Amino acid sequence: MKNIIFIAPHGTGKGTQCTNLMNKYNFNHLSTGDLIRNAIKKQDSFAKNLEETINSGQLVSDEIVLEMIKNYLKENKSEQGIIFDGYPRNLNQAKSLDKLLESLNQKIDIVYYLDITKEEAFKRTMGRLICPNCNKSYNKYYDDLKPKNEGVCDNCGTKLESRTDDTKEAFDKLFDIFLEDTYPILDYYENKNILFKIDASKNQEDIFKEIEKVI
Ligand SMILES: [Zn+2]
Repeated sequence: MKNIIFIAPHGTGKGTQCTNLMNKYNFNHLSTGDLIRNAIKKQDSFAKNLEETINSGQLVSDEIVLEMIKNYLKENKSEQGIIFDGYPRNLNQAKSLDKLLESLNQKIDIVYYLDITKEEAFKRTMGRLICPNCNKSYNKYYDDLKPKNEGVCDNCGTKLESRTDDTKEAFDKLFDIFLEDTYPILDYYENKNILFKIDASKNQEDIFKEIEKVI
């Protein structure tokens, strides 16, 4: 059994890699975003409080998220282990997660950090175009992913749409905040000798090969 954490900024294809691992090795997948969405669907008093917090623009507190993770771990026992996707996001969460796992006689075994430069992440996220008609996706910054005619779908000739409303400034800010919050977590896991940096500038197949080497 192996418990795995994935840490990655936008634009690294983290979702694809989580899916690859789940499909091939039967890991459970824990995304705190999904946990929160599912909890809200239950429409009990806890759900009501959660919804109010989110609607008022606040973040769900670390304590509540941890409690939800605890319940998930108790209800979803996995032989293979769990992939923590997008959690922990800061050092406090990392330490609390360790304590929680310890109380359940478990631990984190592998932490993957998908490493990418800001420029590359920018191109990948901000360059994405999609055909609203046939769903084919493109990227205007990469020759092999560009449409043959600018802004038009190769398949059906429909005008392509951008996948994001973000400005370059908004992207830069989010990326910087991510790094600021994430570096202390990386140090924390590096000191435990369970951090594995993966070069995420490679293509998805090569990234997965690197990931598999560690499993
Ligand atoms: Zn199309």
